Amino acid sequence: MKRLQCDVAVVGCGVAGLSAALSALEAGASVIVLERAPEHDRGGNTRWTGALLRVTDAGEPGDDFRSGYLLGAGYHLLPEFVRSSAGAYETWPSLVKALPFVDRELLDVFIAGVPAGLKWLRELGVPLEHDTFPFVPAIPPLVGVKGGGKTIVETLCPLVTKQGGTILYETTAYRLLQDEDNRVTGVKGADANNESVVVAAKSVVLASGGFEGNPAMMAQYIGPNSRYMRPVARGGWYNKGEGIRMALDIGAAPAGDYADCHRECIDPRSDHAEALVNAFPLGIVVNRRGERFFDEASNDFSFIQEGPSVAINSQPGGIGYFIYDSRIDEAGDWRAAIRSDQPPIEAATIAELAAKIGAPAESLKQTIRDFNAGCSDDPVDMTTFDGHGTRGVTPKKSNFARRIARPPFGCYPMISAVVFTYGALRVNKDAQVVNTSGAVIPGLYAAGETVGIVYGTYVAATSVLRGLVFGRRAGTHAAKG
Ligand SMILES: Cc1cc2nc3c(=O)[nH]c(=O)nc-3n(C[C@H](O)[C@H](O)[C@H](O)COP(=O)(O)OP(=O)(O)OC[C@H]3O[C@@H](n4cnc5c(N)ncnc54)[C@H](O)[C@@H]3O)c2cc1C
Repeated sequence: MKRLQCDVAVVGCGVAGLSAALSALEAGASVIVLERAPEHDRGGNTRWTGALLRVTDAGEPGDDFRSGYLLGAGYHLLPEFVRSSAGAYETWPSLVKALPFVDRELLDVFIAGVPAGLKWLRELGVPLEHDTFPFVPAIPPLVGVKGGGKTIVETLCPLVTKQGGTILYETTAYRLLQDEDNRVTGVKGADANNESVVVAAKSVVLASGGFEGNPAMMAQYIGPNSRYMRPVARGGWYNKGEGIRMALDIGAAPAGDYADCHRECIDPRSDHAEALVNAFPLGIVVNRRGERFFDEASNDFSFIQEGPSVAINSQPGGIGYFIYDSRIDEAGDWRAAIRSDQPPIEAATIAELAAKIGAPAESLKQTIRDFNAGCSDDPVDMTTFDGHGTRGVTPKKSNFARRIARPPFGCYPMISAVVFTYGALRVNKDAQVVNTSGAVIPGLYAAGETVGIVYGTYVAATSVLRGLVFGRRAGTHAAKG
């Protein structure tokens, strides 16, 4: 058994864990980070994210940041609970302190922490630049991390060790240690040989992501169709939910929507991270029966992610097929919206295409006949919702509705991939984990995906920021002991 000691133990070295570790070090604490991955694969989801950030070039969150979170603060909240959260935190009933919802305090510190967090990140050597997302009209202002999340991981990890911290790779945390007063006094884990590692600490920060890499928790919380999903990138496989589970085991309050997760549509044949098939608004999507089943181009900003992913996941085998014809080239560089390394399935006729994807030919031909009957032949303008919807077709396609008629025909298979799970832990504004009765669990903090603040549609491009802001708050507060 390995026995170690420090002021602050951090579980996980994604953006949240690294922000916590460095902030604690800056505040004079000694820090040990436990990381399940080997060094070359460190950093969980953060390593694989493009790290788009929902801020202006000046690093300020836009108005839709707050309004987005307020719209998705929770479901059918009891008005009395919301009213009582308007006063000082100390006056909130314990039920409200433990309530799964985005409270005003939490949202205020999140938003206020963004500009300072980005300034800190820049000063540590992480370069930011103006960015965009292909094929999403009405995109909010975006900044990106140059080189994506990998730059965050590979810049901050060396700084942790340079500033005296220790990172234990291939070390998985399983259980929290507590004293008789319910104070968290450390964390127990296992190394690559399954030998015990016990880290005694004044505080523990759980920054171990969600449970996207744990099929048992996915089936338990997200439901049986999660059997057809997989993490959108390799890093998600490391996040198996121990951080959440070990905190729940000692009485932590759950928060965030356990029944849902952030999803994207990917090509299942591809090894690539985030093998998106986001050009599907330019064609139709059918299931294995050769039938359409959702509006491929609705006016909803999130049309390209959550809704289609859920719809595809609920089809037989959890799979859909994006079908287009050669006129797609009129839409410009549509391939920029495809991140699969696999070539499209191509065919000279619809019958041949049906045979290649295993759909009944007559059904697919009828679907396309019906669809074409409700479409125009106008040129496609993908820079804005063009309002060219189908007429008399069910389900309707609201924009970019053009006939699928000119061979050759192409197709990409699509499944729903989990980007990160929403169900996690309830924290206060200092990222301290509270128990199911709303009291702080002394010595326990959470950050990043391990903090539950998403209910309903995820406010896109705010997850790296959540890790950054709550990681810094956790590390700074935890260092005070
Ligand atoms: C492909 C992709 C694209 C994305 N695009 C964006 C985007 O553009 N903008 C945005 O804001 N968000 C995006 N996200 C989401 C965002 O990247 C993540 O939500 C965020 O990086 C999570 O940071 P984190 O530190 O909480 O978790 P992670 O980065 O996942 O880190 C968790 C760490 O904990 C470790 N770990 C897990 N369990 C244990 C354990 N028991 N013991 C020890 N270590 C453990 C893991 O190995 C990992 O290093 C994207 C995600 C992916 C995968």
